[in-house]
Parts: sequence; C-alpha cells; structure tokens
Amino acid sequence: MRVAVIGGGVMGAATSWRLAKRGVDVVCFDRHSPPHALGSSHGESRIIRSAYFEGSYYVPLLQEVFPMWRELETLSGMRLLTMTGALYIGQPAAEAVVGAEASAKAHGLDVEMLDAAAVRRRYPGHVLHDDEVAVLDRQAGFLNPEGVVTAMLRLAPDVRRDHRIGSVEKLLAEFDSVVVAAGPWTPELLDWMPLRIERQVHAWFSISRDADWFAPDRFPVFIRQSEQFGDVYGFPTLDGVSVKVGRHHAGDFTDPDHIRRRVDEGDVDPLRLMTATFMRGVSGHVTRTITCMYSNTPDHDFVIDFSPHDKRVLVLSPCSGHGFKFAPVIGDIAADLVCDGKTKRDISRFSAARFAPSSHVPDDQAQRH
Ligand SMILES: Cc1cc2nc3c(=O)[nH]c(=O)nc-3n(C[C@H](O)[C@H](O)[C@H](O)COP(=O)(O)OP(=O)(O)OC[C@H]3O[C@@H](n4cnc5c(N)ncnc54)[C@H](O)[C@@H]3O)c2cc1C
Repeated sequence: MRVAVIGGGVMGAATSWRLAKRGVDVVCFDRHSPPHALGSSHGESRIIRSAYFEGSYYVPLLQEVFPMWRELETLSGMRLLTMTGALYIGQPAAEAVVGAEASAKAHGLDVEMLDAAAVRRRYPGHVLHDDEVAVLDRQAGFLNPEGVVTAMLRLAPDVRRDHRIGSVEKLLAEFDSVVVAAGPWTPELLDWMPLRIERQVHAWFSISRDADWFAPDRFPVFIRQSEQFGDVYGFPTLDGVSVKVGRHHAGDFTDPDHIRRRVDEGDVDPLRLMTATFMRGVSGHVTRTITCMYSNTPDHDFVIDFSPHDKRVLVLSPCSGHGFKFAPVIGDIAADLVCDGKTKRDISRFSAARFAPSSHVPDDQAQRH
C-alpha cells in the first residue's frame, strides 16, 4: 500500500510516523520546510492537559497520548514533554473550572480545587480576585512543537520538502490513499471544509530578576477565563528571563497566504494589560512575538474522517486551537483508518458528515475500507 500525506506539520508528521511504524510505504509532502513558522505547529511551547473542559469525550484520547509522547522521546532521544501541571483559573461558574471538574469526575483524574488564597500562596506569579478559584490538573504540562515535528519527521522514511501539492486527485493516480493534513491550507485542497482561519499572536514579556516563581518546576501552565480579557493562557519561563502568553480565539480571520505577520502595539497591548492585571513579576517589555493560525471548525471539534466524496481521502483537521497535544494518537487513528478502514477509538464526534453531506461513493472505493 502506498500512502501520500499532504502536510508535514504536527498532524502530517505524526501520521507519517505511525504509518511508517506499521511498515506502510508513506511519502510526506510539505509546501515549506518543516518545522517552520508559517503554519500552526511552532512557537516554543504547546499546552497538554488531562481534565479537558471542552468535553470529557476527549479524555480517553488524552490518557492514551501521554505514553505515546514518551515513546517519541525515547525514539528520538529528545526531551519533548515537560510536566508542570495546569491551572484553570476563573469564577466558580467559568467553563474552564466547571468543565475540568466534570471531566475529572467522569474519568477519576487527579485534580485539586483551590481557592484564591491557596493559589496566591502556592503560585505567587498569579494575582486573583477573592471570588476566583482554580482547578489544578496534575497530569499536564507543555510540549516543544519544533522538537516534536523534527522528531516525528525523522521517523518518516520519505519527506519531500518545498513540494506543494496542487490537487488531491492527481496524487490518487499514484497512491492508494491520501491523507490531507494541510492545516489552514486544507480548504484550498478540499473546498467543502468549512474552516475559518484565525490569526493568533504570542508575546514573550520579560520578568523581574526575583520572580523565581515562574520556573517550570514551580509554575504550572495556565488557562484563565475572565470577562475582562476572555480566555488567556501562559507558560513558565523557559529562558529564565521571559514568559510567553497568548489570548485564545481573540484574533482576526485571515487566510494562510495573506496573514499579517507583523505584530504591532494593537496586538500586544491587551496582553500587556492582562499580565499587568493578572500576574506578578512580569514587566511590560516585550522580548519576542510570533503569529500563528487556528483552523476553526464551526463547532471547534476536530475533523478526523474520510472525505464524504472519496473514501480514499482521509481528512485530518484537528485544530480549532487545541489539537497539538493529541498529535500522536491522531496519527495512530489515521494509520488505523488508512490500513483497516476503522479504528477502535471513539471518533464519532469528529465526523466530516456534520459539515458535508455524503455524496455517492463508488462501490469499489467503498469496499477498500
Ligand atoms: C498560537 C497557537 C497556540 C496553540 N496552542 C495549543 C496548545 O497549547 N495546545 C494544543 O494542544 N494545541 C494548540 N494549538 C493548536 C495546534 O498547534 C494545532 O492543532 C496543530 O499545530 C495543527 O497542526 P497541523 O499539522 O494540522 O497544521 P500545520 O502545522 O499548519 O501543518 C500543515 C502543513 O501542511 C503544509 N501544506 C499545506 N498545504 C500544502 C500543500 N498543498 N502541499 C504540501 N504541503 C502543504 C504546510 O506547509 C504545513 O506545514 C495552538 C495553535 C496556535 C496557532
């Protein structure tokens, strides 16, 4: 069986790795040279967590994925996952708090409820109102995205960089199956995919010399929900002099070939105000910025499914701003689907049919899977 994977971001790289592991003849194509900073899989750090407030149906995938990240570390000899725990901060009724508690209860996860005083005492880098609370999710931390993509692509036997694929149909003349993992460029190849591409900005702010509470062994990754700033998140310091923060779903809609890469004060000011309000020991001085893209589905759940128009085409669009942490298990699900036509994992929420009505699939193609 010959399989083409379009895209060498984290999803295409993970799929290529997992297919190669099963002995499949796989070729991974990328229009750029991954790891690169032009798509969605870059920027020093990505949060991974367990008490998933977006829906407890994600938790079984997360329970499976942690050992897979460790497997990738063993195979590559690289350190990719740093465990710090995660704090979800907000009002007691905030989705991040209520949803995390619900997922933890449903799956028996290791979480602890903290009141504002406990958070201040344990994590002096956070400033909380008296009526705010936090959930501490112990099975959480961050991944190194550039390292991850590098490690996965080293395990893929045939990676063709700077090779743009213009049409899925043309590839099908040469390959038995095509996996489309093109991130924000997916609609260019599959015009029925209803993705909205959202520009995102990360900024690193310098920290004061005595702010040792931002060290990775003392400062969990965090997500904070508030009326004033919406959803924001941040990481411990990785260089000892700065912390990275971002706003979730606060960006302009764009397209991947015309995204504004330049970051200006209008992008940074809300983050500066947020750190001044919510964090202690962070200065207003920006040391670095990057842009990145979310590929949002209408319901913010993933698409992991065959194309409704051709069962030889598998679509992977697990973003909406939260897909990175799942990459190895999504790559393995893709390998299940390509090799066996089915998977044991529950991916019923991630169907393509919810966006594209199924059209007639010729019998010979349907039988392949
Ligand atoms: C700012 C930001 C913060 C995030 N934070 C988190 C987080 O903390 N935790 C988390 O779990 N997730 C997070 N995410 C989401 C996560 O990073 C994405 O879900 C993931 O990176 C998507 O990977 P991808 O491979 O689908 O897309 P990409 O990384 O964009 O990869 C797509 C690849 O396809 C290639 N390509 C496109 N078209 C073609 C073509 N025609 N021919 C050949 N190659 C092509 C591109 O060059 C690119 O390399 C974040 C995303 C962003 C942008």
